[in-house]
Amino acid sequence: MSALLPDDEFNVYESAEARFESAAEKLNLEQGVFRFLKYPSREITVYIPVALDNGRLEVFIGYRVLHSAVRGPGKGGIRFAPNVSLDEVRALAAWMTWKCALVNIPFGGAKGGVICDPEKLSKSEMERVTRRYTAELSAWLGPERDIPAPDIGTNDQIMAWVMDTYSMHVGQATTAVVTGKPLELGGSQGRREATGRGLTICCNKAVEKLKISRETCLVIIQGFGNVGSQAAMLMHEAGYKIIGAADVHGGLFNEQGLDIPRLYDWVYGKKRPLPEFPGAGDVTTSQDILFRKCDILVPAATENQITSLNAHRLDCRILCEGANGPTTAHADSIVQAKDIFIIPDILANAGGVTVSYFEWVQDRQGFFWRESEVNERLKDVMERSFDEVVHYAETHQVNNRIAAYIVAIDRVARALKLRGFYA
Ligand code: NAD
Repeated sequence: MSALLPDDEFNVYESAEARFESAAEKLNLEQGVFRFLKYPSREITVYIPVALDNGRLEVFIGYRVLHSAVRGPGKGGIRFAPNVSLDEVRALAAWMTWKCALVNIPFGGAKGGVICDPEKLSKSEMERVTRRYTAELSAWLGPERDIPAPDIGTNDQIMAWVMDTYSMHVGQATTAVVTGKPLELGGSQGRREATGRGLTICCNKAVEKLKISRETCLVIIQGFGNVGSQAAMLMHEAGYKIIGAADVHGGLFNEQGLDIPRLYDWVYGKKRPLPEFPGAGDVTTSQDILFRKCDILVPAATENQITSLNAHRLDCRILCEGANGPTTAHADSIVQAKDIFIIPDILANAGGVTVSYFEWVQDRQGFFWRESEVNERLKDVMERSFDEVVHYAETHQVNNRIAAYIVAIDRVARALKLRGFYA
């Protein structure tokens, strides 16, 4: 067993494997368990025939990967994007296993995706893609089997269609089959903000640890979708100064701080591209924003943003990974050499799956919690997980990313040994 850097730096599955291998080696994981945890349990490819609005029949390709059900049912989002690939879904599924174990919620890891461009599909086409994808997978999904949630390109409406389609197949309303649903269908208070809130809680802990004052703390956020925009709003409310923000159209930078509530209204109320926000500051590119000087950098857009080619340009003290896999494995050593405090993705963005777990619990109880209750429980989970990672890193002289993987892998490995190997 050896920790090798991926041949293809931009293959996220190879990147995820490299971190797993490195952590497993430090943990002295025995060979059999190593192999068991390295490979996914199941990979499904579905071909989804859908009649488009113009009458033409199109066939979309979709995936669902269950990486592990050792600690509980699979849990993981569904991504709708043109560049979805099986390797990407595999990586995301494995990350879900480690993320759920790290924050100690009773789920395994899964992920799904459909190769399609949501920008180019009408609402009714999206509905048909979603329903047929769900129908093809209905034997594999379920509150005790595998529970999807939103990810890039999907939202609460799509989760409502997943829930309805699954319910029609099993003959009863089954709200707990997906999370991230609308409140009217058994969604949870606080789910929409949960990933951004969890990320803010991690940043609060990190600045406290590094003795940085929140009031003078400068933050840049790449990505202004569910994660990035909610993080921006919550961090702004918490007193941080957000000096940079970017979406796929470009970035904005202003040393004096951006007016985040107005920017939010510009993007979500007025539905305008972020960089066209009037009078906000310098317009820059979506990538360039990552390399401006700040205290906390939050890549919350997509994978492979910080690489061996550009990591030397980072000028931040804390790197808080809102997106999954924003830093390639090749860039890890460069980031570490710059002494940047990393809050790795499987910790930083775990607030979303944590409140998804709360949603699943509430659906199964048929009893719903106040938003303050959800937020309080989320804070407990995030703070405890942050402390565990930092404590492990400090006592074992490893970086926070490897510490997070080790804590998570160890939990899954222990559960696996207790269950034993069937046949
Ligand atoms: P989203 O689709 O809501 O938003 C993505 C944002 O990133 C948009 O603002 C988009 O314009 C921007 N973007 C896309 N490509 C970009 C690029 N190359 N440069 C700059 N900006 C770019 O997605 P999301 O739900 O916010 O997810 C973002 C990331 O967070 C993904 O990696 C996702 O897997 C991860 N994540 C999401 C959740 C969740 O609860 N939504 C939870 C955990 C992790």
